[in-house]
Amino acid sequence: MSKISELFGSMVFNDSVMHDRLPKEIYRSLRKTINEGKELDLSVANVVASAMKDWAIEKGATHYSHWFQPMTGITAEKHDSFLSPQGDGTIIMEFSGKELIKGEPDASSFPSGGIRATFEARGYTAWDPTSPAFIKENTLCIPTSFVSYTGEVLDKKTPLLRSMEEVNKQAKRVLNLFGQSVKQVLSTVGPEQEYFIIDKELFDQRKDLIYTGRTLFGAPTPKGQEMDDHYFGTIKPRIKAFMAELDEELWKLGVFAKTEHNEAAPAQHELAPVFTTTNIATDHNQLTMEIMKKVAHKHGLECLLHEKPFDGVNGSGKHNNWSLSTDEGENLLEPGSDPYSNSRFLLFLVAVIKAVDDYQDLLRISIANAGNDHRLGAAEAPPAIVSMFLGEEIQKVLDAVEAGKPYHSAKHLKFDTGVSVLPAFSKDNTDRNRTSPFAFTGNKFEFRMLGSTLSIAESNIVLNTIVAESLSKFADVLEKASDVEAAARKLIRKEYIKHKRIVFNGNGYSDEWVEEAEKRGLLNLKTTVDAIPHYKDEKNIKLFTKHNIFSEIEVISRTDILLEEYSKTINIEAVTMLHIASKEIIPAVVDYVTDICRSASLKKSLNPNMPCACEEGLINEISAKQDELFLAVNELKKALNEVPHDDASVTATYYKEVIIPAMATVRKPADELELLVGRDYWPFPTYGDLLFSVV
Ligand code: ADP
Ligand code: MG
Repeated sequence: MSKISELFGSMVFNDSVMHDRLPKEIYRSLRKTINEGKELDLSVANVVASAMKDWAIEKGATHYSHWFQPMTGITAEKHDSFLSPQGDGTIIMEFSGKELIKGEPDASSFPSGGIRATFEARGYTAWDPTSPAFIKENTLCIPTSFVSYTGEVLDKKTPLLRSMEEVNKQAKRVLNLFGQSVKQVLSTVGPEQEYFIIDKELFDQRKDLIYTGRTLFGAPTPKGQEMDDHYFGTIKPRIKAFMAELDEELWKLGVFAKTEHNEAAPAQHELAPVFTTTNIATDHNQLTMEIMKKVAHKHGLECLLHEKPFDGVNGSGKHNNWSLSTDEGENLLEPGSDPYSNSRFLLFLVAVIKAVDDYQDLLRISIANAGNDHRLGAAEAPPAIVSMFLGEEIQKVLDAVEAGKPYHSAKHLKFDTGVSVLPAFSKDNTDRNRTSPFAFTGNKFEFRMLGSTLSIAESNIVLNTIVAESLSKFADVLEKASDVEAAARKLIRKEYIKHKRIVFNGNGYSDEWVEEAEKRGLLNLKTTVDAIPHYKDEKNIKLFTKHNIFSEIEVISRTDILLEEYSKTINIEAVTMLHIASKEIIPAVVDYVTDICRSASLKKSLNPNMPCACEEGLINEISAKQDELFLAVNELKKALNEVPHDDASVTATYYKEVIIPAMATVRKPADELELLVGRDYWPFPTYGDLLFSVV
């Protein structure tokens, strides 16, 4: 076996380890739980726990932890050691089935949106056997769900698992109608992750990066990304070393990191894994983000995951490639060679089209945060309007369906480079549309609006649920039909016509599209604050309660959590800005101006007629901007003192409408000053230093 195949998954209690280490009966019973959702017996859990513990100790683990995903968007863990005292001064290493399946972390310090008063602090974590346990550092991590004492969901995994069960159930109803009975339909995802890498020493000198993850000040560099020389460019040696170690660390954890390349902006990169179930992909993406940061530190680097670390160059997103497949690996969004005649494919396709049209708002909400507001609608990321791109071939198929005409699939054309030594290959049936927020890319949909820091759980909860809803509606109709095939064709046509307004094949970055979308009645929820309140619209609460994803209280609490998170983020940014402006920028400007004044008066003391136009000019210009900055700082301070606190939505609106513009007023003179003040005086590294220093 090669080194890499030995390494891959070596820190994961995966299927092959379970198969080797568990008694046959126990293994079979656990697989039933994993594959078919059968409830797990405590006696089985006891045996699994003991095998897990032995395996983990052999790998050097001393602790175990229930690893969960609270509403903070990052993961949480509480470590307990395996040690158990024996009363005679000795210890044994113990781990019971009960400890495996249930934990009781204090829930009071995690966001709950007012669901749970602090005196009812009890929360439970429950083992999710569908995502394998793994060892991180010296700890056996057990992926778990996190719920409150009263049963309310406090995390992102539980609703994701529920949404997977729901789409499984509804998809199976539809497959049954086509005479296909499968054990399970799985929703799958491959998330592409963008990030920036900068030098750690420089990072440490920027309080804005430290506190907020993005730069709050910084004049543009003479060279940005306009030469397009970074995208897919040669990877620099330090970055290459980082990527190599990152791959190894991820492979050990069973994360199938596959593609890595430079992105459009200087210092920007991307990592794409091979897809897996939405649940495991979410766990893996959380791990990927964590490990990226850790490995970067080992290389004297810092990984920035923020959606918009630098003004004026592209921000970072995440592409959520989503599909449905059977447990036998058959992709239900695979068009095959004759998509027009493939009614099952068309039905699933139209189910997604209907879902995206009916729940544009929920998809928009699932990617809303303060950081992503800087990207969406800028000419680097999809607009805030949700629309779909289907590609030429599928578009023609649906046009034919609509017109009630037959359609014959285009033959795959051979691609001719005009150079005889280059191999001929067949061409894809469609080019790509990079500006679409939701694009069909051959046999999956690529949802491109996600921000780089976001947990992909939210988007996949929504995707699974809204597609489950479409499928359930379709199944309701078709289950009553005597001729399923004929009824399905009728339904495909009707639903496509009803929802085709969501399909847009043109340039999503253009202004015309904004106008056109409005004419079509599509939503344009420009910012997080415009989007989030729609979470609790009646139709959305109905959807979530119908499919048992969230209760009404849970939806309302999540709305508040998201709005509060937005307000807190902007507040931290504004306060950080005040600190940097008052404690770093203004003092630096004062020093510089003082030195210029000194230079001028020294010159004058030599000769009162000595020309000092440069000094005077600089002092004038700098002083004007210095005053502008000082005034803006005071305005921002005042605005922060007047934040209303009665209602989450009112507070968030205030941050958006008052604080964000006040922050822009501070930034403008500060960035102009950066270009005027001497390099040695400026108190922190500039954009040029940050973006171009890693070699
Ligand atoms: P791009 O050209 O958009 O950069 P990549 O090839 O880098 O695309 O990434 C495509 C992603 O889509 C990969 O993570 C891949 O595993 C994933 N993917 C492929 N097929 C499926 C599928 N059936 N379901 C979910 N994700 C898929
Ligand atoms: Mg992509």
